Amino acid sequence: MSGLFDLTGRVALVTGSSRGIGNALARALAEAGATVVLNGINAERLKAAEAVLAADFAPGRVHSVAFDVTSDAEAARGVAWVEEHVGPLQILVNNAGIQHRVPMLELDVADWERVIATDLTSAFLVGREAARHMIPRGRGKIINICSVQTDLARPTIAPYVAAKGGLRNLTRAMTAEWAGSGLQINGIAPGYIHTEMTQNLVDDEQFNAWILGRTPAHRWGTVQDLAGPAVWLASDGSDFVNGQTIFIDGGMTVVV
Ligand code: NDP
Repeated sequence: MSGLFDLTGRVALVTGSSRGIGNALARALAEAGATVVLNGINAERLKAAEAVLAADFAPGRVHSVAFDVTSDAEAARGVAWVEEHVGPLQILVNNAGIQHRVPMLELDVADWERVIATDLTSAFLVGREAARHMIPRGRGKIINICSVQTDLARPTIAPYVAAKGGLRNLTRAMTAEWAGSGLQINGIAPGYIHTEMTQNLVDDEQFNAWILGRTPAHRWGTVQDLAGPAVWLASDGSDFVNGQTIFIDGGMTVVV
């Protein structure tokens, strides 16, 4: 790849990339030329994902580091590992996330906190750590993976809705503090994407019919649908785009 979207020589860390959206985004960044670092907590799954991706690229282009994005110390260790063993971190995708479905009246605080920690606090922890390295170098791209739940709310996923809404505003807060140091921080808000996280929804006939009806494009999104926007936001082609969250949802959030 050449020109504006070429990521050759850049180091990218994608959190939660042992599977699903994160894994597809890591592949897309690698295809655009980046050297990528996968992350997850299940070390065995992560190593397997690294082996699959590495098989398609030259030696040294794909790495992995297992760490829990909800831990301050682990986030620092993970980013330091990338800097020491792979190279200066230039692209961070805060993608790791979980969902917990239960009506709010039955939701206990431990589950609330677990989702907030994974889907919101993690982006602060890993983002802050990455920025500590990026700011002195005067450049860096951070992409926060939000959701249509950033703007819309479905019942039974209150902490997810709260976290993703917060993540959009954290994207703005990071921009307010770090844009002047040469960083671009943006969000991607995917619509309903067919992955492991949403497999039970795809299998639910009623929900599946609702999604197809509610999405103007009349289909589920694929991980591939997110690849182009992620590469663009990671590249020089988006250098004056800052603090934005781009909805990639087949039109779901603009049609009632
Ligand atoms: P998956 O459940 O398929 O994958 C989740 C990934 O996150 C896994 O790699 C998992 O690692 C990792 N992970 C979870 N907890 C942690 C943690 N504490 N530390 C490090 N890694 C962790 O999810 P999706 O690919 O579907 O979703 C990815 C992101 O996209 C999430 O933020 C989600 O909210 C968002 N999103 C998804 C949509 C969809 O329709 N699928 C729609 C909108 C947004 P491990 O393998 O070790 O468990």
